[in-house]
Amino acid sequence: MSDFASLFDKLNNKRVLGINPPVFDFAFFDFWAKPLGLLYILEYLRQRKNDISLIDCVYEGRDKPKTFGRYKIKKMAIEKPLPYKDIPRNFYHFGITKEAFEDKLSKAEPPDLILITSGMTYWYLGVKWCIHIAKKFFPKTPVLLGGIYAQLCPDHAETLGADGVQTKPLYVPCIRPALDLYENPEYGITITSMGCPLHCKYCASKRLWPYHKKRSIDEVINEISFQASIPTVKDIAFYDDALLVDKEEHFYWLCKKLKENLSNIRYHTPNGLHVREIDETCARYLYQTGFKTIRLSLESTEPFIQKTSSDKVHKHQYVKAVENLLEAGYLHKDIETYVLVGLPGQTYESALEAVTFVKSLGATVKLAEYSPIPNTPMFKECTKLLPILEEEPLYQNNTAYCGYMSPNITQTELQSLKDLAKKSLPS
Ligand code: SF4
Repeated sequence: MSDFASLFDKLNNKRVLGINPPVFDFAFFDFWAKPLGLLYILEYLRQRKNDISLIDCVYEGRDKPKTFGRYKIKKMAIEKPLPYKDIPRNFYHFGITKEAFEDKLSKAEPPDLILITSGMTYWYLGVKWCIHIAKKFFPKTPVLLGGIYAQLCPDHAETLGADGVQTKPLYVPCIRPALDLYENPEYGITITSMGCPLHCKYCASKRLWPYHKKRSIDEVINEISFQASIPTVKDIAFYDDALLVDKEEHFYWLCKKLKENLSNIRYHTPNGLHVREIDETCARYLYQTGFKTIRLSLESTEPFIQKTSSDKVHKHQYVKAVENLLEAGYLHKDIETYVLVGLPGQTYESALEAVTFVKSLGATVKLAEYSPIPNTPMFKECTKLLPILEEEPLYQNNTAYCGYMSPNITQTELQSLKDLAKKSLPS
């Protein structure tokens, strides 16, 4: 295992370039996706007197504006890699073009160190693309690779051509994300706690953050204030996996301070909220603080899937949470709810029941197509049927796995669930 923490502790007076790679996938939507870990590292290195810069290949490919500070990202159809050759869908490069990336690199001062981050395991082709181009421009500069893919597929990540790979959680002080490196950012990002105390069998949170740890409220408020002081920033997204756990001691205090000092900002929770925590008080805090996007992690209504989901929510708790949110002021359409589909052992009928249940309460379904994530208990089950998942991360793609490889659901069934999820209820 490699760990760059001691290198970063000693680094000063160096020029450091951070790169967030483009995304190569069938689809990509900006759910307030910014490279939070890389931005924390860059800020830490700046405070240690290094000269930092950033090329975010996704942001640099922004196209038309969407709601709440997000953008549609430009895409170019590219040749499908071999594992996807039989999938009847186009495959795209989302983000900056090669020419624009090369232009940016050609204008950059030669860095002493390049840090490249990574997201989903099956996005590694964009990472490889970046490493290859960055090395062509700066052959003598060490390139270090970190991020989620590097931690979940360390052996695979070692093959991409970087000079070092951060294969375990990296602990550097989270001072604040260096959001000012962006030109006119319209949203900021934050996290109030690392990890999650639960153990859902399909989730890699424990691997990425072995301990659930809350940050101090003042620290979080300082970093939100810093980002909100950038005149273009009107929205902040929370990246927490467990925002509402211990809410009385943490989240409520945070909300009080946000209301007092930062009431002009809109807040969003793209990661699922723990539904059982949403009692009347919690729903009021969410609404009155200005949380505009809330996503509820229902996942399923079937007992065996609820069990694999740490028994984190049962139907009656979801019904109550929806009532509380409506009472607090949210509309039905605001109550977006994750329903998992394509899990090992899950039938179409089971997913259908969950979708129907959410719709019967008037809430909005967000289908989450299952993708097998390495180092999770459920991944092991999937590899018994498809051992190739271990070797080739491209097979872990949710579109590829859930839509075309999973023995649990057919493409037609999946499409009918998507259609049903989108359908409005008769009024
Ligand atoms: S509650 Fe969410 S973050 Fe926590 S283990 Fe389950 S899926 Fe992962």
